[in-house]
Amino acid sequence: MGRGKDKFESFFSNEKILEIIRLYSNDTIYFKDVQSRFIWNNRAHAAQFGISDPHEMVGKTDADYFPKDFATRARKEELEIMDTRIPLISNIERLEKADGSVVWYSASKYPLIDNADNVIGTWGISRNITALKIVEEELSRTNEKLKRLSQVDDLTGLFNRRYFYEMIEKTAYQYDRRNSPDQLKDPKNTFCLISLDIDFFKKINDDYGHNKGDDVLRLVAGILTSQCRKSDMVFRIGGDEFMMLLPDTPLKGAKVQAERVRSALSAAPIVLDDNSAPVRLTASMGISCYKDCTSVSDLIHKADERLYTSKNLGRDRAT
Ligand code: GH3
Ligand code: MG
Repeated sequence: MGRGKDKFESFFSNEKILEIIRLYSNDTIYFKDVQSRFIWNNRAHAAQFGISDPHEMVGKTDADYFPKDFATRARKEELEIMDTRIPLISNIERLEKADGSVVWYSASKYPLIDNADNVIGTWGISRNITALKIVEEELSRTNEKLKRLSQVDDLTGLFNRRYFYEMIEKTAYQYDRRNSPDQLKDPKNTFCLISLDIDFFKKINDDYGHNKGDDVLRLVAGILTSQCRKSDMVFRIGGDEFMMLLPDTPLKGAKVQAERVRSALSAAPIVLDDNSAPVRLTASMGISCYKDCTSVSDLIHKADERLYTSKNLGRDRAT
């Protein structure tokens, strides 16, 4: 037992500990004087510049090894650390190398304080986290993709029902906040909703099959999108029901838009099978304007109610 302790203590002399860190730490470690000149570096620190003997770096500064902006920023940080004695912990650093490749570090820097409590420089330790960053970036791309998927209707590629409710609430909120005198005077300071349902769509499914029905839904989606402005949004709410959200549009503008959709649909007879005549597709629509409604649900309710009025009045129309 006693012998074991002796062995342990002699192995872990201060020199030996420094030696182990200098030679074997994969994290880069350095000590700098108040001028930010290197006093001591470990092998990993030197190796990142292709230097095999860390002693070579003594007396040099970051400016001798890193791009100018990186070295300038590091010096500024070190002045601050020496001034405040507050360390900089796990700072994420991006370094673009001369060959264009990018390396990421998680770097911590501390004030270097002597026995008399004087700040005599800084010391730091950094870890190359490039692999971690790559995974993080992939994850964030995947998240973006998932988010898009959660907003989109599989069949048509239009936005889906869930996103419709999110966007209509968001849009209403934005208009609720627009209440300067100029905005209140502006007739375009409102938005409209067009609810649309294909007429006799069941018959297409029944006569030509569900797959052809799906083709028709995609075709209608394309026609609706082509008739919209960039700022308009088209959603498939379910089945053969669609919604168009028209920002900065008064009721009059929405009526013109609905008429455009109606004539675009009737101008595109669909060939569903080689043996029968092209089918002329129509839809019924209901239009509501946020200015005339008390709430978002009132807006949706009015559009739906008017859609059913259109159905009852003989379809192929907007109310
Ligand atoms: P109306 O003029 O009264 O709207 O008559 P309609 O036949 O269009 O009746 P309704 O709108 O109630 O029917 C919609 C049909 O859409 C019912 C369902 O069979 C069909 N449907 C719902 N989802 C899909 C889908 O994803 N693909 C296909 N092909 N059909 C669908
Ligand atoms: Mg229908």
